[in-house]
Formats: sequence, structure tokens, C-alpha cells
Amino acid sequence: MNELIFASSNAHKLEEVKQILVPSGFFIKNLNDVNFLDEIPENEPTILENACFKAQYLHDRLNKNVFADDTGLEVTALGGAPGVHSARYAGLPSNSPNNVKKLLQNLENATDRTAQFKTVIALIFEGEMTVFEGIIKGNIIAEPHGTGGFGYDSVFVPLGYHHTFAQMPAELKNSISHRALALQKMQQFFGI
Ligand code: IMP
Repeated sequence: MNELIFASSNAHKLEEVKQILVPSGFFIKNLNDVNFLDEIPENEPTILENACFKAQYLHDRLNKNVFADDTGLEVTALGGAPGVHSARYAGLPSNSPNNVKKLLQNLENATDRTAQFKTVIALIFEGEMTVFEGIIKGNIIAEPHGTGGFGYDSVFVPLGYHHTFAQMPAELKNSISHRALALQKMQQFFGI
């Protein structure tokens, strides 16, 4: 069994990651499980660098097998924003309803509403770092729909679907999402 520590204190992400990895034999610990109470900095200029920084930061302190996820919503009409700034788009402290509100305001007159979620997972296994990327394309709708999920899920409809991530059963989101795609690549790395 592969025991991995997930470098995130986001309960929603942890739930999704466990739902995807536990059935295939991974044992996932979170930061609380290992009594790691520091806030891990997320100040790098790109999603890739943030994921790598977070994994390295935790590995340097615990010297265990760890992985970190960094995710952003990239909107075409906004030149890729909010991107790496997705969590603090409407300012700090991070507030998802405010972020969604600002996004919809900024897209009010946009005809192109295409966007993508990008997740980068950085894994440090036996001291070596490997990264896995997952991207899902879709559209930003005009008003929030649904109560599931988190973050920008209520306004993102993946291509080929008619419902937002927040309207879908968690099992469906977790089988097609950006995070699921990156995690599937990590599973392949372990030969699963
Ligand atoms: P981070 O990876 O924790 O920095 O997440 C960045 C931002 O993107 C946060 O505001 C999250 O709420 C949002 N986010 C991350 N993953 C998802 C997702 O799966 N769906 C919707 N929003 C997400």
C-alpha cells in the first residue's frame, strides 16, 4: 500500500482526492493526521511552481512521501485569469462566493465564455519529484447553479455536459475533473 501525505488543508480537495485514490489502494494522510499545523505558502507565479513549492516545503520538513495539488480556473476572455490567483481573485481572505461574483461581473459583456480548470499535482516519492497535469475545458455560465462541490464549481459546465460541477453527483465530477485526470496520471506512475 502506498502511504502518501497530501499537502493541503482544503477539506473539499481532501475529500475528492480520497474518493479517487483510496479505492485503488492508497492510504492518504492529511496535514492534521501528521500534526503539521504551519500554513504552507502559495506565492509562486504559476500553478506548476506553486504545486512544486508546496510539495517540496512539506517534504523538507517531514522527509516522507508527499504530494500537493495546485489548481486554477483559466478563462479565455480574461487572458487566463484568475489562474494562479483563483483562490484570492476577490481579495484575501479567500472567499468563493465573492470570487464567483467578481468572475461573473468581469464576464458580463463577454461573448467568449470558454474556460478550463488546470490542476498540477507534484509528487515527491522516495525523494524524487514528478508532476502530473489535468485539464478540463468548459464554459462559464451567467449565474451559479447547484450546491455541490466548491470554489467555482457552480458556474463551470464541462464540455459535453449540461450541468455545472456543483449540480453533478460528486462521483461524476470526480471521474472527469481536472483533479481526477491529474490523479489518474499519478496512479499510472504507480502502475495502477
Ligand atoms: P488552490 O489550488 O487551493 O490554490 O485553489 C485555487 C482556487 O481554485 C480556490 O479558490 C478553489 O476554490 C478553486 N478551486 C480549486 N479546485 C477547484 C475545483 O475542483 N472546482 C472549483 N474550484 C476549485
